[in-house]
Amino acid sequence: MQTSDILQAWKGILAGRRPSLSIEVTRECPLRCPGCYAYEPAHLGGLVTLRELNDSKGEDLVAGVLRLVDFHQPLHLSLVGGDPLVRYRELETLMPHLVERGIFVQVVTSAFRQIPTAWKDMPRVKVVVSIDGLREDHDERRKPATYDRILKNIDGQRITIHSTIVGQMMKRPGYLEEFVAFWSARPEIEKIWMSIFTPQRGAESPEILTPDERKRAVEEMMGIRLRHPKLEMHASALRQFLSPPDSPKDCIFAQTTHTISADFKTKITPCQFGGDPDCSQCGCMASMALAAVGEHRLGGLIPVKHIFQASFAVGRLFEKKEAPDAAVTEPKPKTRAEAA
Ligand code: SF4
Ligand code: SF4
Repeated sequence: MQTSDILQAWKGILAGRRPSLSIEVTRECPLRCPGCYAYEPAHLGGLVTLRELNDSKGEDLVAGVLRLVDFHQPLHLSLVGGDPLVRYRELETLMPHLVERGIFVQVVTSAFRQIPTAWKDMPRVKVVVSIDGLREDHDERRKPATYDRILKNIDGQRITIHSTIVGQMMKRPGYLEEFVAFWSARPEIEKIWMSIFTPQRGAESPEILTPDERKRAVEEMMGIRLRHPKLEMHASALRQFLSPPDSPKDCIFAQTTHTISADFKTKITPCQFGGDPDCSQCGCMASMALAAVGEHRLGGLIPVKHIFQASFAVGRLFEKKEAPDAAVTEPKPKTRAEAA
């Protein structure tokens, strides 16, 4: 992140705007990945699930996304799902309109279908492909978006790989480096990002890392990034995985991002995971990267996070109410006392 980006984000926050917007553009996905938070029963607060929402298609989808973008005026937009490429025709129409607005656009997909070739040369457009580990594990977890299919569908593109480290990967020594080495060698891969699986509070699953595995994952990434520079994980961000934000209100990422689901009304809170995420085990790389920015001391004195927190308070005074045609249902996550 450049200093100019921080300043621009800060200006927006003071004016009551969140610099980042994430939209689940469709409720549909052809995959059924174990551990997928979007389809967890609590993702939208427990009253309704993503698959039950009324989502949009065709011109309604294009108009709905542009309406949200024009209302929230983000600097950065993430199009997620479900899988956004389920609506690739709508996205092909939408993308030039977003580029015209000068914002950064990130499309997160499993690459189960071909990435539109025109996106490669669009300014400020990034395609992020999610991969669940090495071929043998990924192909099992992410059928039909297998390695072979992904390699075919990203051919000739500029791609960022994102992988979430799950407990199963940490059972085999050398797994992370083998993964990073495979994708680093591909010419279409520009960057590799790694998150760590984030559970809901009280959840138990094989995807969750033990504290020792988490520490080892961080130590390994510290070394791998030096041997494979496509792994774009700054040491200061990696260190944050060992002391994640205490709560959503301490999480700069959660405070700076609006996440809206596929009916273009339902807000996902307290962050993109929805439900009641366990911040103490958070593994979101975006949250860690912003936490690292927050630790930076301006003029060597004041941590940026204190300036951001004060600015959020000012910004809330000026925050625009919701778009007139977007009656927002905001599910309330449980408090710690309620959850106990
Ligand atoms: S591709 Fe993404 S949205 Fe679809 S099931 Fe897998 S993790 Fe969930
Ligand atoms: S789970 Fe992670 S991203 Fe979500 S609010 Fe907590 S610290 Fe932030």
